[in-house]
Amino acid sequence: MTANPITATIPFDQDGVHHGHLRLPYSRDDSAWGAVMIPITVIRHGDGPTALFTSANHGDEYEGPIALFDLAQTLGEADIAGRVILIPALNTPAFLAGTRTTPGDRGNLNRSFPGKPDGTVTQKIADYVAHTLVPMADLVLDFHSGGRTLDFLPFAAAHVLPDKAQEARCMAAMEAFAAPYSMKMLEIDAVGMFDTEAEAQGKTFVTTELGGGGTARAETVRIAKRGARNLLIHAGIMDGVPETAPTRWLDMPDASCFVFAERAGMCEPMVDLGAEVRKGELIARVWPTGHTGEAPAEFEAQRDGLLTARHFPGLVQMGDCLAVVADPI
Ligand code: CA
Repeated sequence: MTANPITATIPFDQDGVHHGHLRLPYSRDDSAWGAVMIPITVIRHGDGPTALFTSANHGDEYEGPIALFDLAQTLGEADIAGRVILIPALNTPAFLAGTRTTPGDRGNLNRSFPGKPDGTVTQKIADYVAHTLVPMADLVLDFHSGGRTLDFLPFAAAHVLPDKAQEARCMAAMEAFAAPYSMKMLEIDAVGMFDTEAEAQGKTFVTTELGGGGTARAETVRIAKRGARNLLIHAGIMDGVPETAPTRWLDMPDASCFVFAERAGMCEPMVDLGAEVRKGELIARVWPTGHTGEAPAEFEAQRDGLLTARHFPGLVQMGDCLAVVADPI
């Protein structure tokens, strides 16, 4: 079996605050013996649980990276008992390019798990996370937002799992995160996700969707920072009580939550994020862009619920996700 070529420039098992890199050799035109350098902070203080917090799994999402670069710079050894592993820019090449996928190989890191030690850059990162980092962790938080093409109501999410004790742990951690919305999430495309790998290893796993549009907002950054600290307290790694905030539970029980564009064109939103919609209600119209005098295509909610996500750019392509309608519980 091939060994993963990634090496950490800092130790995982020594007390103190260690800032360094995961070094992934990557020979290319502009750097023959070069490497992808993934920033990492490991803070350890005695024995205790390990939290693994990651963001920029997709490179165009910013609440998580802001919260984790901030946490890496401010969290001290004396603040914790146990270990905190922070990787704010997990897919560093995508993060540096501001793109969802990896520039060199177009890999979507969150569809590449469990990875390949001798694969592409994306697959090597996934393999290292799956086989080196996740096994060290008790609690895993992988931050997401909508990226350049989606915008979300800010929510933390946990999955419905076959192991109900594990599901309860994940739901409790999601609740501790204290986002304005808490989602029991259905994945439309769960194969290859970090979530699926961490959950298969029995870990307590929380993810988020905190906004989108390829930027961050002050409010959603505050939610991300509060959530990360709350989870460290919830895990017993930090002292204190989680900073609570009202949360509204949402459920995405089946595929009728999703509205997909069956026409390309210009999107006219008919309802905004957070709106209550009824089954059959018009959510968006898509205008033909090449000529005048033609009616727009109309897209309706497939169920009653809350408009939880929407397509962000003004132009849509065939097959784009136009909207997500979730059930308030
Ligand atoms: Ca994402």
